Amino acid sequence: MTTAYVTCPLCEATCGLEVTLDGATVTGVRGDRDDVLSQGYICPKGASLGALHHDPDRLRTPLIRRGGELVEASWDEAFAEIDARLPGLIDAHGRDAVAVYVGNPVSHNVSASVYLRALVKALRTTNVYTAGTVDQIPKHFSSGYLFGGAMTIPVPDLDRTEYLLVLGANPLVSNGSLMTAGDVRSRLRGIRKRGGRIVVVDPRRTRTAEFADEHHAIRPGADALLLLAMVHTLFAENLVRLGTLSSHVAGVDDVRELAADFAPETVTEATGLPAADIRRLARELAAADRAAVYGRIGTTTQEFGTLTSWLVDVLNVLTGHLDREGCAMFPLAAAGQANTAPGKPFRAGRRHTRVRGLPEVIGEVPVATLADEIETPGDGQVRALITLAGNPCLSAPNAARLDAALAGLDFMVAVDIYRNETTRHADVVLPAPSALERPHYDVTLYQLAVRSVANWTPATLTSDVPQEWRTLLRLSGVIAGQGPNPDVDALDDLFAADLAGRYGVAADDTRRGPERIVDLMLRAGPFDLTLADLEAAPHGVDLGPMRPRIPDVLSTESGKVELAPEAIVSDVPRLAAALTRSSAQGPGPVGEASGGRDLILIGRRHLSSNNSWMHNLEPLVRGSNRCTAQLHPDDAGGLGLADGDSVTVTARTGSIAVPVEITDTVRPGVVSIPHGWGHDVTGVRTTVATRHSGANANVLTDDFALDVPTGTAALGGIPVTLTPTP
Ligand code: SF4
Repeated sequence: MTTAYVTCPLCEATCGLEVTLDGATVTGVRGDRDDVLSQGYICPKGASLGALHHDPDRLRTPLIRRGGELVEASWDEAFAEIDARLPGLIDAHGRDAVAVYVGNPVSHNVSASVYLRALVKALRTTNVYTAGTVDQIPKHFSSGYLFGGAMTIPVPDLDRTEYLLVLGANPLVSNGSLMTAGDVRSRLRGIRKRGGRIVVVDPRRTRTAEFADEHHAIRPGADALLLLAMVHTLFAENLVRLGTLSSHVAGVDDVRELAADFAPETVTEATGLPAADIRRLARELAAADRAAVYGRIGTTTQEFGTLTSWLVDVLNVLTGHLDREGCAMFPLAAAGQANTAPGKPFRAGRRHTRVRGLPEVIGEVPVATLADEIETPGDGQVRALITLAGNPCLSAPNAARLDAALAGLDFMVAVDIYRNETTRHADVVLPAPSALERPHYDVTLYQLAVRSVANWTPATLTSDVPQEWRTLLRLSGVIAGQGPNPDVDALDDLFAADLAGRYGVAADDTRRGPERIVDLMLRAGPFDLTLADLEAAPHGVDLGPMRPRIPDVLSTESGKVELAPEAIVSDVPRLAAALTRSSAQGPGPVGEASGGRDLILIGRRHLSSNNSWMHNLEPLVRGSNRCTAQLHPDDAGGLGLADGDSVTVTARTGSIAVPVEITDTVRPGVVSIPHGWGHDVTGVRTTVATRHSGANANVLTDDFALDVPTGTAALGGIPVTLTPTP
């Protein structure tokens, strides 16, 4: 029997876990009480790390398409196939003919996230798509223009705040997103214990809303209007207090002007919130000594995602709640610190996509247009795709269209642990090691941590499956024309030397792969650490709470917080137009003529789900069906539906049938369906998920309903018509 201490790589909370093993068999997974960030917390997903490792459906051998079927092959055969097809395709059609799609699990995987750079550099394609372009680019965009860096994202100082205004986030279920806070439950309880208040704005009464002091069931997609009306109130009632920020902020008068037309009364109908409540929220926020506004997925996956993300921080600035203890603060990561100035000022739209002219942001283009790029002939047409731990056939908007587009590719390579709804289209599937078979350091998520911490996890178990960094370097070498068996160690030396040059430290060449890279990142970091320090601290190293960082953290052209950047505020007229439109139309269903009922679609999250990819683990899917359409009793009654009846939900892009769950936790006029389901397709090997298939909510989301500045799809706020399933 042995015990290993690991950082959970499944979500952004980065909990420390204690894994017990009997030889190579995982016998138990518990929260690590001594972990410096999570202090013993564990959720059902973390507890399933052993089930994930032992899942018989997890791929351990490469697959190659032969005669239309994916069959097992050796690693050499798999790379010979790639070498035979990919470089030739690039020669014939150009670099942009190959697209990359990077799934969310890559952010939690040091091997894949760091060495992805080598792959993208070898490909030199402009067609880089990520899961971030599904759900978080508006926050990078707004932070980039406000503060100068796309990762200069303030997070709430949860451990010291006394007033937390949460919009479109459900941290008691998500465990925090764009906010790394192991054991978020205790941290939120701490706010209440200190006599503080938590206010949640969400169309659903989520678990976090139940826990909060106050919940406002806003209409989907109206957050920007609420926040702008709060800004209006601050100016109208002379409540703007920049405090210590006053000499570091530009554009305050511009914001005052922009908010002038958005008095609370003007947004009452569109938001569904009384003007008196909007004014009170603004006054409470202004009066609180230590406060933070925090918005997440519901605020970034909507038609006004950029404006909402911007206004979250505008409110923090105008009320003096940015960069102070207990307020919204800038984390400081021990390694790969992405928000340390000086850097070049952020700029988006350095290029635009070929078919629809959507903008590049942080080197990525919106997945909402990937199907266009595959389907539309011409120079630069996408003919091949490489996916890394991504399942866009379930997670991208207008998923049925993308699924059909992927089936028409000339060539596809997937690096993944499952043959799933997306990888079933691949010509070559390259397996990756399980989470327990690879080392881990959360380079990405520690950039957003509410406390500076650093924790290194060596691989707990050995594996016959090559580490992803080796697979990605081998793939890079093939693409670079070095044949099917390039010298991976030499490529790694080059990669490390390049990074060492960039960070200005010497690489420790006694190490290889991510160990060498993390070590050099730590040594170049602000805490003077080495990997050896972390190897000696299995529960992690606590580096203290967040500290004020303005002005050093700013890298805008002016060196100030740019409160009214043109790239963002130029979208305010679109918001004003939407407000006029919504007032003119008024409420009222238009689909009733067909015997249906028009509602607005939103998503939701469950503690045991992580997008699409953990549904093959029995402990996480057992119990009642979670893929339901949650309806308010008034809407269910209007359709004559009872709990468990099937309802057909139809949008511009398609239809799905789902069981009804009647609940007053959703506001009338809204239907909530979780995404990540829809495992009932052929060609997959996910036995458990297929048994618990659910329906694919992204068949309903629209690849043409976008947050305009970033091209990010508005997954929430989609108009749908519900009819009882015949
Ligand atoms: S909350 Fe996230 S990091 Fe923590 S155990 Fe669960 S999945 Fe892992």
